[in-house]
Amino acid sequence: MPTPAERHAQLCEEIAQHNYAYYVLDQPTVSDAEYDGLFNELRALEKQHPELVGPASPTQRIGAEPREGFTKVTRAVRMYSLDNVYDEDEVSEFDRRVRDELHGDATVSYVAEPKIDGASIEITYEDGVLVLASTRGDGETGEDVTANVRTIRALPLRIPEKRTFTVRGEVFIYGADLDAVNEQRKADGEAEFANPRNAAAGSLRLLDPRITAERPLRVYLYDLVERYFDTHLEMLEHLAELGLPTHRAHRRCDSLAELLDFIEHFDELRASLPYETDGIVIKVNEMGLRDELGFTSRFPRWATAWKYAAETGETVLRSITADVGRTGALTPVANLDPIPLSGTTVSRASLHNLDMIADKDIREGDTVVVQKAGEIIPQVLRVVLEKRPEGTTPWEPPTTCPACGEPVAREEGVAALRCVNARCPGRLRAGLWYFTRRSAMDIDRLGKSLVEQLVDAGLVQDFADVFALKEKREALLELERMGEKSVDKVLEAIEDAREGRTFDRLLTGLGIPLVGTVAAKLIAEKYGDLRHMLDAETEAMKEELAAIHGIGEKMAESVAAFFADESQRAMLEKMLVLGVKAEQPRKEKVEGGALEGMSFCVTGSFELKRDAIWKRIEEHGGEVHKSVKKGTTYLLAGDKVGKTKMDAAEKKGAKILDWEGFLALLEGAAAAPEGEASGEEPPADDG
Ligand code: AMP
Ligand code: ZN
Repeated sequence: MPTPAERHAQLCEEIAQHNYAYYVLDQPTVSDAEYDGLFNELRALEKQHPELVGPASPTQRIGAEPREGFTKVTRAVRMYSLDNVYDEDEVSEFDRRVRDELHGDATVSYVAEPKIDGASIEITYEDGVLVLASTRGDGETGEDVTANVRTIRALPLRIPEKRTFTVRGEVFIYGADLDAVNEQRKADGEAEFANPRNAAAGSLRLLDPRITAERPLRVYLYDLVERYFDTHLEMLEHLAELGLPTHRAHRRCDSLAELLDFIEHFDELRASLPYETDGIVIKVNEMGLRDELGFTSRFPRWATAWKYAAETGETVLRSITADVGRTGALTPVANLDPIPLSGTTVSRASLHNLDMIADKDIREGDTVVVQKAGEIIPQVLRVVLEKRPEGTTPWEPPTTCPACGEPVAREEGVAALRCVNARCPGRLRAGLWYFTRRSAMDIDRLGKSLVEQLVDAGLVQDFADVFALKEKREALLELERMGEKSVDKVLEAIEDAREGRTFDRLLTGLGIPLVGTVAAKLIAEKYGDLRHMLDAETEAMKEELAAIHGIGEKMAESVAAFFADESQRAMLEKMLVLGVKAEQPRKEKVEGGALEGMSFCVTGSFELKRDAIWKRIEEHGGEVHKSVKKGTTYLLAGDKVGKTKMDAAEKKGAKILDWEGFLALLEGAAAAPEGEASGEEPPADDG
């Protein structure tokens, strides 16, 4: 039997390896369920042995509370921008300048690597632990986004490297992941991200790391600030050996001809990469030669970026239709005569919102300029007015939903239309698709076209009906492309989901506005299963949810409203009747913890961060109150406590407690005489 500490180390290591396999190699080594199992074991272990929790534990990726703003980080070594080259002549010019500068007496080699379109980042490991991450900012001064960067699962929180290690790279998002994020934003009535760069940069600078955690960010590292290696290639290799994510699409080039060859080769390759690249970075490989070449005021002289030109094309816009999202939001879409752009055939482009169509006066029948470059979603740039046919009229937004024909609502102040018909088949199609996705009920066998067929044939009228499909075998066999075998497979997958999913997945799948996977987990942990949520009283639920740290007022309201809605309730009850059993593994209730029966409101500043203190309270069986209310036992007050808090404590009858007093409680107030209790040092990490 390993000791708890040994088991803890094993679990951390195993989870880190699975993260690496999944996020960096794109080759998952375990199922989601197995991964969850390891994670839950780790969590349970840390509950019992809080002393094992360290900053590098995978449970500590998320947890920081929203901040008011970002701290500035001034770096010792400036982050430079890159000069650009756009054609072969300019590449050859760059090569010539490098060789001239080195007086032709050195054998220079280059490394060409993809230029990923994201946001640059600098990350510092001290003694093997990730301690700081900052954005580029103006190069010299960036912003401390450590809490957000810690949520990126591709990034190890600990590396086997004792030296100070400051790496630089690019935070980015896969194209498919961006589509999913945009789908969610559309559903929530928020503006879509126009391109992966915006999505990455925006997500990095969110004040609430829990929202960043919901964004499937990735990172590739391509630079090391400390000079531990003689060449760029050796450095890249070492990064990979440490388990740091690096792109593997680089190539050493010994001559101009080889560079040009790689540029040509990469142009073909890049269309098949799951992430967006806007060019190639060419770097001198030898560090010693880099020193000789030096920098201009803005760029290194030893590197340059080959940029692919943004590809645009003209085509005819045949019609403007609207897509219905799962919350009923209508997104206008341009249907185009197919046109090849940046390696794909484009026949649809998002028009984002009504204002954009009006501003650009885009009409059906217009010839438009479309662009797809560094942008996953093709854009309609502008109308070619000279080619406008006669008799066109400005586009009129629909007054009825294209899927159900019911009148649509136009929300005030927002350039968005919404179908408010709860039974709209368009909404159901989009919602059901989301319900079956991997982050939710994971019924992969229900593909997009099958979902549509099920809704259109009336076989599924709400999410619960999925679990009644086994009674409808005959009808299923009549659907297009559904033979005996595929019907069996689909039904099997549904059986698997009926009892085999945790409650948070079900909650995620329901598509409650504002609730993503992280929030769903918090809610699931609070209530355990569907029955308990259905039985909760609306007002009480609102309060209970808002009291969970990680869940805001608005989200609590949204969830409570969802569970108060009669038709949703009927659907959920039906699920239970159909035997859907989604339970959350019980969080170990801390029985007999030193703080059991006590509640705490924490205020003022402490050596520990607020949420680390909250965690401690809960770990010892206490309850956290976000504000002092009737029944709050203690106001735990640190330095610089406001008078209003103190007054509130007095009014509500909460006792004031300082840190020493708190530690005394932890040790069991009765057992520990005063003074001795402060022997416990707060752990160094901030949780
Ligand atoms: P630019 O923003 O056009 O000046 O290009 C410079 C930026 O390209 C850098 O700040 C990095 O964020 C980004 N970049 C992406 N991939 C690489 C790479 N492989 N090497 C260096 N910079 C890269
Ligand atoms: Zn509708």
